[in-house]
Amino acid sequence: MSPIRSASDVPFDAEVPLLIVGAGAAGLCAALAAKKAGAEPLVVERDAQPAGSTSLSAGLIPAAGTRFQRAKGIADSPQLFASDIQHKAKNEANPAIVAAVAQGAGQLIEWLADRFGLPFDVIDNFNYPGHSAMRMHGLPTRTGLELINGLRGAAEASGISIVPGRRVETLVVEPDRRIRGVEIVRGDGVRERIGCAALVLACNGYGGNPDLVRRYIPEMASALYFGHPGNRGDAIIWGDALGAQLEHLGAYQGHGSVATPYNILISWAVIMQGGIQVNSEGRRFCDESQGYSEQAAEVLRQPNGVAWSVFDARIASVARQFEDFRDAERTGATVTRESVQALADAMHVPVEAFAAEWTTTEAIKAKAGKDRYGRQFAPEQHFAPPFHAVKVTGALFHTQGGLVIEAACRVKRTDGTVFPNLLATGGAAVGVSGSTAAGYLSGNGLLTATVLGRLAGKAAAQMARG
Ligand SMILES: Cc1cc2nc3c(=O)[nH]c(=O)nc-3n(C[C@H](O)[C@H](O)[C@H](O)COP(=O)(O)OP(=O)(O)OC[C@H]3O[C@@H](n4cnc5c(N)ncnc54)[C@H](O)[C@@H]3O)c2cc1C
Repeated sequence: MSPIRSASDVPFDAEVPLLIVGAGAAGLCAALAAKKAGAEPLVVERDAQPAGSTSLSAGLIPAAGTRFQRAKGIADSPQLFASDIQHKAKNEANPAIVAAVAQGAGQLIEWLADRFGLPFDVIDNFNYPGHSAMRMHGLPTRTGLELINGLRGAAEASGISIVPGRRVETLVVEPDRRIRGVEIVRGDGVRERIGCAALVLACNGYGGNPDLVRRYIPEMASALYFGHPGNRGDAIIWGDALGAQLEHLGAYQGHGSVATPYNILISWAVIMQGGIQVNSEGRRFCDESQGYSEQAAEVLRQPNGVAWSVFDARIASVARQFEDFRDAERTGATVTRESVQALADAMHVPVEAFAAEWTTTEAIKAKAGKDRYGRQFAPEQHFAPPFHAVKVTGALFHTQGGLVIEAACRVKRTDGTVFPNLLATGGAAVGVSGSTAAGYLSGNGLLTATVLGRLAGKAAAQMARG
C-alpha cells in the first residue's frame, strides 16, 4: 500500500485543526504546548496505552542553566551545552537546531516542573560522558515510565484528547504536498479518515523495523533492539514518499550495558564512577568512558557479543538511585564477591588475565594516570570490596536519523523549502548526533523529543489557526 494518497478521492470522517501522531514524550510535549498556544490538538497513538520508547528510558533530560542546577551550585550555560553537543557530534549537527535545544531545555524542564508538577531534580553525584557540567535532570525513580505517566497526566488535566489503539497508516495530501489528513487503522481493522490543518509527526524512528535497520545500520542488524517495537519508521517512509529530506540514517543511540540474559539497563554511572568492562577472556578492550552509545558495537565485537561490567560497593551505591539497577540486583543479574579471584570464578573468566587487568587498572587509578586506551582514571575511583560484576551486551536503543527540519520543526523538502503544514519532532526528525553512534551525547534523545516537541506544538498551533 502506498504511504501517501491523493486528497481528491478521500471523504473525511472528522476534521481537526491539529493532529499529532504518537503519544511519546515528543507528541505529548507538542500537545501541551499547542494547547497552551490556543489550539485543540488531537493525539493519535497506535498502542492501547501511550508508552513508546519514552516509557522504556531512564527519563533523563539534559538542560543548562536551570534553577535546579543553581540550587546545587552547578555553573552551566546553554552555550556550553551547545558546544558539548557539537563536540560529541563532530560538528555534524545542524547549528540552528543545536542552539534551539540548548537554549530551550532549561525552560522546558522548569515549565514541566512548575506548570505541570513533574518533580525534576538534577543528578549531582556523577556525570555522563561528554557533558562539561552536571545537567541531567530526572524524576525521583529515574524511569521513563514516571516521565510518560507525568506527561500523560498533564495532557489529561489540560483536556487534551489522546486516542489510543489507532495506527496512522497513510498521509492524505494535496498535489502541492499540503497535508489534508491521515488514514488510520483501528485495532479492530476499521479505517477512519481524519482531516487536519496541521500535522505533527512524533512517531519516533525505525528501530522497530528490522528491514530499515538492516539497510541503514547494518552493524546493529542482529543486535537486541531495546526500544519500542511500534516505532517502525513510518515518518521516514511517509517523508520519502512526499519528497522530504532525510539525513544521518546510519546514526543511532546504542548502549553497551544491558544485563544479559535479563534485559535490564545497567546505568552508565557504573562506568563513569570508575567501573571497567572486560570480555570473557578477562581482558579490557577499549576506553569505556567515551560513551555508552558507541560502546554497544564495541561489546558486540567481543567473543559471544558480551562483556562484564565490573565495579565495587561505592559505585553500586551510586547506581542504586536507578530503579533498573535495583531490579538487576533483585533479579540476580549482578554477582557480588569479596575477592578478585572469587569474582573471576563467578564470572567464569580466566583468573590470571582478569587479575592482571585489575592490578594494572588499580595502579593507574592510584597515580591518576591514563590507561593504554587513553582513559583517564582518578585515585578516588579505586575499588574496595565487596566487588560486583554484571554480564552485559550491546543493544540498539533508538535511531537518530530522520526528517530534516528547520528550527521551528517544519519538515524540509529535498529542494530546501518547507512543507506548508507538516512538522516533525523527537525521533521522527533527524537528531543532533551527527552521522554515527559515537555522536550521541547522553540525553540527546529526550532532549530533542521534549524541547523540539514543545517548539513543534507552538508552531503547529499557529498553522492550525491559519
Ligand atoms: C532503554 C532506553 C533508555 C533510554 N534512556 C534515555 C534517557 O535517559 N535520556 C534520553 O534522552 N533518552 C533516552 N532514551 C531515548 C529516548 O527514549 C527516546 O529518544 C525518546 O523517548 C523519543 O521520544 P519520542 O516521543 O520521539 O518517541 P516514543 O516515546 O517512542 O513515542 C513514539 C510513539 O509513536 C507511536 N507510533 C509510532 N508509529 C505510529 C503510527 N503510525 N501511528 C500512531 N502512533 C504511532 C508509538 O507507539 C509511540 O508511542 C532511551 C531509550 C531506551 C530504549
